[in-house]
Amino acid sequence: FPPNMIRNFSIIAHVDHGKSTLADRILEFTGAISKDIKNKQVLDKLQVERERGITVKAQTASIIYEHQGQKYLLNLIDTPGHVDFSYEVSRSLSACEGAILLVDANQGIQAQTVANFYLAFTNDLTIIPVLNKIDLKTANPEAVKEQMFTLFEIDPDEVLQVSAKLGKGVTAVLDAVVKNVPSPAVKCNINTPLRILLFDSWFDRYRGVVCLTLVVDGSMKKGDYITSSHSGKTYEVKDLGILTPQETPIPHLYTGQVGYFTANIRDTKDALVGDTFHQRGAQCQPLQGFRQAKPMVFAGVYPMDQREHTALKAAIDRLCLNDGSVTVQTEASSALGQGWRLGFLGLLHIDVFNQRLEQEQGAQVITTTPSVPYKVRIRGARAIRDYRGDEVMVTNPTLWPDTNVIVETSEPFVLGTIIAPDDYLGAIIGLCQERRGVQQEIRNLDASRIIMMYKLPLNEIVIDFFDTLKSMTSGYATFDYEDLGFELSTLEKLDILLNGHPVPELSTIVHSSQARKIGKSMCEKLKDTLPKQMFQIAIQACIGSNILARTNIKAVRKDVLAKCYGGDITRKMKLLKRQAEGKKRMKMYGNIEVPKETFIDILKR
Ligand code: GDP
Ligand code: MG
Repeated sequence: FPPNMIRNFSIIAHVDHGKSTLADRILEFTGAISKDIKNKQVLDKLQVERERGITVKAQTASIIYEHQGQKYLLNLIDTPGHVDFSYEVSRSLSACEGAILLVDANQGIQAQTVANFYLAFTNDLTIIPVLNKIDLKTANPEAVKEQMFTLFEIDPDEVLQVSAKLGKGVTAVLDAVVKNVPSPAVKCNINTPLRILLFDSWFDRYRGVVCLTLVVDGSMKKGDYITSSHSGKTYEVKDLGILTPQETPIPHLYTGQVGYFTANIRDTKDALVGDTFHQRGAQCQPLQGFRQAKPMVFAGVYPMDQREHTALKAAIDRLCLNDGSVTVQTEASSALGQGWRLGFLGLLHIDVFNQRLEQEQGAQVITTTPSVPYKVRIRGARAIRDYRGDEVMVTNPTLWPDTNVIVETSEPFVLGTIIAPDDYLGAIIGLCQERRGVQQEIRNLDASRIIMMYKLPLNEIVIDFFDTLKSMTSGYATFDYEDLGFELSTLEKLDILLNGHPVPELSTIVHSSQARKIGKSMCEKLKDTLPKQMFQIAIQACIGSNILARTNIKAVRKDVLAKCYGGDITRKMKLLKRQAEGKKRMKMYGNIEVPKETFIDILKR
């Protein structure tokens, strides 16, 4: 297939709008998969993906489609379905010239539709607007077309209508892909040396990393030596082919084609999404826009039982092999033991990783409340030497620099998009304000729904923003966000003291406007979870020497034997033994015993 007979495209949609179903229909329709495995959603391979109905790792398929007597090679490039992976979405999209913008005709445009539309738009893709689920009685195609016009200026006459479930209208979509999406010939060159864009990769135990690639210039065959522009490392191509969606080896991948290759790459960190590979020794201008995905949300991960430490480490390593975007640092907590601080791209990414850790690796873990990285500029020759520079990236509150060396602090911000029925306008504005949000835009999407853009600190949405938003709108609101980078902000370290002794595990970084509120709620929570002791305990929340909140737990006389009158000695022994075992799980702060369960209660998500 010469480039002008190829079309590279993807499907973008809000979750549950039918992306996987449409992809299945397309493959089935063109004979790439058999009809008997109907509804099997071939493209979603991971267990978590099937369960949560979201696509985590992109899957791709090549199909042959006949249009007006001509055979075309269509490459359907699947993108991760969530903006946590927006960098990967954006890279996958840059392998395409067009995108099917799929919208549920019943639900209308949702937050992810907007975020994904803008990603496609900024990647200069031709958009093919399609309404799905028109078989539903509640479908309202005309109203949704109007929303598409309001937000995206899409001509209502150009919107196609399909039922992916029933397979209705699918040919019209493929015809539109052939007719409207430009061929990769516009950006590809047959006659120049090899240049390929890597847009996805995963680890295979036997063959090493499997890479998905678009051949931008030249062609590639088995035995070629290729060099990464990013790392400069050279590899020999061992195997290559196309996905149908099963791997199908072919002798050459030509200009404009999409396919896989293996080259004995042992680490996914050497096969980064967005990297350009070229012929060994050739001069090559890397394809634009490579940057490494940066973790934005951090959480501590500890084994429930320290004896599981080695096994958990192995499980984390195995998962990381498949997900080069997770960062791992060892971390020790006197309360939770030896563990790791993992960095993730976003909230969903943590959930997906944890779930895979538990389901695929059978690991029992404690995950601490997620936090964001902070940037701190410091002064003073000594501090600068100790921190090796005047800018410190803090991912763990215990490493927060001393107040007297801090010049300024900044935190990550995002641009959030919320779509909801307009009845909830007041409540949502209230929530966003409480979370330090700054309104950017509010407008009507149609007669009954609004779209709102807020600039929000990432820290304010990492824990329960989406859940709160969902429950206050009876599940109707949708939310999505994109990174805006770091901005200055007044941040401080909040410490918790028990009878004057700090508990490092409970320190957090807070915005100064929230310090008192958070300090108070930490004290209350501790009061409820910390067991009473034989003396009074003072709980304090403070910043430096400034006490913001305090509360007391009254003393109790603890006599474990009081309940057993009479002389059942074995029963007494049992009680004493149980108490001794409990003690082993305690941590001492001053003379106060804090059980591990208290930490788990407070630190756990
Ligand atoms: P994705 O999250 O975008 O991949 O969405 P899925 O393809 O997993 O579809 C979400 C749900 O919508 C599934 O229960 C599908 O069976 C259903 N669905 C998809 N397309 C249609 C359609 O055309 N009509 C109806 N009635 N349901 C559909
Ligand atoms: Mg899906």
